[in-house]
Amino acid sequence: FFITFEGIEGCGKTTQLRLLKERLEAMGEKVTVTREPGGCPVADQMRAILLDAKNSAITPLAELLLYAAARAQHVQEVIVPALERGETVLCDRFTDATVAYQGHGRGLDLAVIEELNRLATGSVQPALTVLIDCPVEVGLSRALARIEATSGDKEERFERESLLFHQKVRNGYLTLAAAFAERFVVVDGSGDVQQTGLLVQEALCQRIES
Ligand code: C5P
Ligand code: MG
Repeated sequence: FFITFEGIEGCGKTTQLRLLKERLEAMGEKVTVTREPGGCPVADQMRAILLDAKNSAITPLAELLLYAAARAQHVQEVIVPALERGETVLCDRFTDATVAYQGHGRGLDLAVIEELNRLATGSVQPALTVLIDCPVEVGLSRALARIEATSGDKEERFERESLLFHQKVRNGYLTLAAAFAERFVVVDGSGDVQQTGLLVQEALCQRIES
C-alpha cells in the first residue's frame, strides 16, 4: 500500500507521517518511510542542489527536470522494491508536489509535468494521498520558527518565495484534491499536532471502511 503526504511548508505533514508510521507498526504492519526530493543517496544530492538558497539562479525548467530525475531514482531504488516486499510505503511529498509547486506555483505547463511524472514514476501512483491543508500564514510561521529553533544557517530556497507563491501552491493542492477526490483525503492542519493527528486517523478509517 502506497500513501503520500502533501501540503505547503509547515503544514505538519512530516509529523503526521511519523505518527501514522507508529500507529501502523503497532498494528503489525511493515512500514517504509521516505521523502521527496531525496529518499536515497543519489536523489539526496539532487535535493541539496534544489533546496540550497545559494542556487537562486536555477531556472524553473532545470528545477522541474531535477525533481523528475530525483524521483526516477527514488521510485526505482526505494519505492518499488518496498512495495514488492509487501510493505506499506509512506512518502513525504511525491508527484502532486511537482504539480503544485512547479505547475501552479511557477506556472510551468501542467501537461508537461503530468507526462514527466508518468515517465519518472513508471506510472507508480499512491493509493491514497493525505493533503494537510492550512492557511499559508500559519504554515510559513511554523516553518520559519522551526528554522530558527534549529540552526538557521542553511537557508532554504522557499524562504525567498513570496506569500503569493505559497498561496498558489496551496490552491494547486486543493485543485488536485478536488480533481482526484477518490485518491485524496484532505485534513485541516491548522490545529495542533494532536488535533490534526485525530483528523488524519478519522479520515483514513473512513476511507478504508468505504
Ligand atoms: O521537507 P519539505 O518537504 O518541506 O521540503 C521540501 C522543499 O522543497 C520545500 O521547501 C518545498 O518548497 C520544495 N519543493 C518544491 N517543489 C517540489 C517539492 C518540494 O519547491 N516539487
Ligand atoms: Mg517537512
